[in-house]
Amino acid sequence: MITFEQVTKSYTHHGTIITALDKVDLQIQEHELFGVIGESGSGKSTLLRMINTLEQPSQGVVKVAGTDLLQLSEAEKRRSRKQIGMIFQQFNLLHNQTVSENVGLPLRLNKTYEQQQVQEVLKFVRLSDKAEHYPSQLSGGEKQRVGIARALITQPKILLCDEPTSALDGQNAYDIMELLRKINQTFGTTMVIVSHELSLIKQLCDRTAILEKGKVVETMTISKDNQQQ
Ligand code: ADP
Ligand code: ADP
Repeated sequence: MITFEQVTKSYTHHGTIITALDKVDLQIQEHELFGVIGESGSGKSTLLRMINTLEQPSQGVVKVAGTDLLQLSEAEKRRSRKQIGMIFQQFNLLHNQTVSENVGLPLRLNKTYEQQQVQEVLKFVRLSDKAEHYPSQLSGGEKQRVGIARALITQPKILLCDEPTSALDGQNAYDIMELLRKINQTFGTTMVIVSHELSLIKQLCDRTAILEKGKVVETMTISKDNQQQ
């Protein structure tokens, strides 16, 4: 579903070259829950932004569903981005809009707004009773469920999750993890979850890559033998 072939990404910052990703090879299968773990600055966000065509590689090839993203026109990139949902650490909600309005935003932008779809996806994330609330009236976990609903409403094939539980405390983080798992099981959504929290990745993901200073130092399958599913 997603492949990286010898992908390098360099930035120039005040005249010095920063290598954010260094010859990364990855293969993420359809329906997979794939983790990327690494410390701050190891290149995790850059990797996600490349899948989303927000950045392009300096060298190498990134493919999504067999298509080399470098070959896409700007219009095709926008179309590709619409099939990819994104979840953020800080939720990125609009504070002057209600839960319903935040969740319906992608449909309004696509000019395909239907209120029923908003209601269905709010039901799925168990927030129907908060539809007319504003983000400031919600807990952190609820805010993230709004962020997830907004990402899900366009029925994306791929969901990119950037530190989805890092701003949440234990129980809220656990609930969000369970919700991500349920999305994967219900819709078969391919998910890439980047985090610096090994416990999240271990409990949630099928496989994980370990990123260190822009290099994948290891890719491993996570054994679920002694964990509840
Ligand atoms: P992570 O998400 O793991 O914290 P990032 O992908 O954000 O890592 O960053 C990897 C490296 O690339 C860091 O050294 C960061 O400072 C640098 N970097 C990221 N984006 C830019 C940019 N737009 N311009 C310059 N340097 C950047
Ligand atoms: P319902 O049975 O009420 O249609 P589901 O529980 O099947 O609802 O799905 C809830 C919501 O999840 C849908 O309204 C839709 O916005 C969202 N969703 C995300 N990805 C998908 C998908 N691949 N297929 C169907 N719905 C999806």
